[in-house]
Amino acid sequence: MSTVAVPSGQQRRTAELEDRISRAPETFRVMTGDRPTGPLHLGHYFGTLHNRVRLQDAGVDVFVIIADYQVLTDRDVADRLTAHMEGLLLDYLAAGIDPARATVFNHSAVPALNQLLLPFLSLVSVAELNRNPTVKDEIAHSRQSSVSGLMFTYPVHQAADILFCKGNLVPVGQDQLPHLEVTRTVARRFNERYGEVFPEPDALLSAAPLLLGTDGTKMSKSRGNAVALRADADETARLIRGARTDAERHITYDPENRPGVASLVLLAALCQDRDPHAVAEEIGAGGAAALKRTVTEAVNARMEPIRARRAAYAQDLGYVRSVLRAGNERANEIASATLAEVREAMGAVI
Ligand code: ATP
Ligand code: MG
Repeated sequence: MSTVAVPSGQQRRTAELEDRISRAPETFRVMTGDRPTGPLHLGHYFGTLHNRVRLQDAGVDVFVIIADYQVLTDRDVADRLTAHMEGLLLDYLAAGIDPARATVFNHSAVPALNQLLLPFLSLVSVAELNRNPTVKDEIAHSRQSSVSGLMFTYPVHQAADILFCKGNLVPVGQDQLPHLEVTRTVARRFNERYGEVFPEPDALLSAAPLLLGTDGTKMSKSRGNAVALRADADETARLIRGARTDAERHITYDPENRPGVASLVLLAALCQDRDPHAVAEEIGAGGAAALKRTVTEAVNARMEPIRARRAAYAQDLGYVRSVLRAGNERANEIASATLAEVREAMGAVI
């Protein structure tokens, strides 16, 4: 699983939240999303997408943002943006996001959301932005030689994404926890300065808050180490065959000391809804080759219906685009109402 332990307080909080969600789903609004930089992968599915669908099905109001402006944090130009946005929509629909119950929208189509960035930027210091470990990691992996203002400030932009619809629950991977702290800080300080407007949202971690890619680092769309949801069975087999393991033959589940092997074991376990220790024990002396066979079969079996639905939706891109248009309409209504409230609270309405 992860090379970095999830703080136990965070895990406790997640368990408490799950309990409250099952008792009163209507009191939650989920807001989360992805950058349109490439097809969604298994890290997305088990890190957040599966959680979004589960929450939607449990009766929570779910918002999903396609973060098009944020593509520009680590590259000069957002290439193939239209294709990537369509790809995300296909991945969402295939995974079970239901446009009748969830709102899918994109940044650049919701001007009032983006305007929240200005007052929000005034609520955080440059030193605070500078300390964000995820931004530091992303700067290290960035394709650019210098750090843009957008990269530096995007956690505040993310606060606008979450707070525009007063989202109070954010299903994310572990890399997003520092950003969620920024959002909570922004909400708290805004409320202190101008009166109660925003909730302080909670992060909801899944069982796979940091799935590793085939090179042993965080599985990422932009790092060439991912197994995409849309990959076919053969490509999946090839990618998993090339995954990094270690020299020890006997397979165990030890995320701390054997992150590569553990991530593969976890992947099989997640696909089969099993305990990773039991999966590791079963493979045992079979070694890395048997592990990779098991993972490949498990991933292909789990993804098969998702891939079939994706292919069916891809036949009707007109419908797929209409999902985004309808979502943008709803997001614009909500963003305008929130911006009006913010301006009112600041005394800007005369
Ligand atoms: P990029 O490399 O372009 O930044 P990404 O793979 O990091 O792409 P994002 O769009 O930045 O994907 O992240 C979308 C959501 O998916 C976030 O909530 C993030 O925490 C989650 N996520 C991304 N990668 C993983 C992973 N490997 N394991 C668990 N969750 C992940
Ligand atoms: Mg990312």
